[in-house]
Amino acid sequence: MMDEKKMHPESLMMSYGYKPSLSEGAIKCPIFQTSTFVFNSAMEGKRFFELAYGLRQPDQNEEPGLIYSRLNNPDLEILENRLCLWDGAEDCAVFESGMSAISTALMEFMQPGDLLLYSRPVYGGTDHFINHFLKKLNIESVGFYATDTFETIIEKVNASGRADRLTMIHIETPANPTNALIDIELCARIKAHFSTPEKDVFLSVDNTYMGPLWQHPLKHGADLVLYSATKYIGGHSDVIAGACLGSKALIQRVKGLRTFLGNMAGPWNGWLLMRSLETLKVRMEEQARNARFVAEFLRNHPKVEKVYYLGFIDEQGTAIEQAIYHRQYSSAGAMISFDIRGGEKEAFAFLDSLKLIKLAVSLGGTESLAEHPQTMTHADVPGHEKELMFISERLIRLSVGVEHPDDIIADIKQALEIA
Ligand SMILES: *Cc1c(COP(=O)(O)O)cnc(C)c1O
Repeated sequence: MMDEKKMHPESLMMSYGYKPSLSEGAIKCPIFQTSTFVFNSAMEGKRFFELAYGLRQPDQNEEPGLIYSRLNNPDLEILENRLCLWDGAEDCAVFESGMSAISTALMEFMQPGDLLLYSRPVYGGTDHFINHFLKKLNIESVGFYATDTFETIIEKVNASGRADRLTMIHIETPANPTNALIDIELCARIKAHFSTPEKDVFLSVDNTYMGPLWQHPLKHGADLVLYSATKYIGGHSDVIAGACLGSKALIQRVKGLRTFLGNMAGPWNGWLLMRSLETLKVRMEEQARNARFVAEFLRNHPKVEKVYYLGFIDEQGTAIEQAIYHRQYSSAGAMISFDIRGGEKEAFAFLDSLKLIKLAVSLGGTESLAEHPQTMTHADVPGHEKELMFISERLIRLSVGVEHPDDIIADIKQALEIA
């Protein structure tokens, strides 16, 4: 027997965790479009519920029984097992959206009166949830930037007056839209600094931009990894979903709250994501390869002022950025932003002239997308902070897809000429 544990994740995405003999020999996992599951006996039902409610410990090798699709479903369980392989996680919970994964994790680990430390900018929905919904629960937050150091972050937390109530650190790296880098290991040191024997501080990383292929936050000291599976994991711009990964103990808590919020993904979306995972690596690697060609082209174009691309960090970045990049990432990824010469007028003329590349938010899909962060994804960010984070009217964000690089570049070239 070959040991599955020693194989690469991409070799296991077609089969891991699925037994054809349990499904009439079907090579692919069927869609278990069912709300509830029939017990073989009343005793079996009783034992399944005992486990589900934590009323007893599982016997050796005992798997949780199938009860009801809000609690578990084969399409979700197999998908969760497969997602674990990329991040080296013990367990995973799949959600109906990235936002439900993020909001459920934050709600499970925080209580009224607590303090949240988070990197800025974070995804707009996350930012809104932190600054509006969590505030309503009397959960305060302190933001920090990629330019902050260990000392300045500690100062900010102490200045909040709630340092003893710091319970969670939530970060996003590289930061959308300019690929600013946050050091996960530095955040793990902040977590250790504020953790006490009575109270663990948990570190969660939104890994949507680079995961699950090119960054593995658990290996750098994170407790939780979060995804909008809508992006690279789904990869075809046809499904909204999310995931949260970590240790068995933490994910058990996350799944507990998911059961009562009822925000798990449905079996059909689980099946779609399993199908996506089979091509995850080939898609992402092709997208990253294309992105390098696009970045090189943009860098040499007279109408382009500056290109924000991780592949240029060795020439453009500081020593600290270079160190984080080489420690944390195995690829420059497929997200590029650039400043066009001029202002909003030139940026909009460029966006309106694209033919192959679609003018849309979201990212990570097979088709290339372009958008204007200042007036679209980051419209809500206060003016002075936009400046701090280089989100200007000249900035355009590209998600590079799997089209032929010559065609992507030809489209950008003709649109730049019109702009
Ligand atoms: C899209 C996105 C989200 C939100 O995910 P949904 O699936 O749209 O709910 C969260 N974080 C990042 C970084 C994203 O890009």
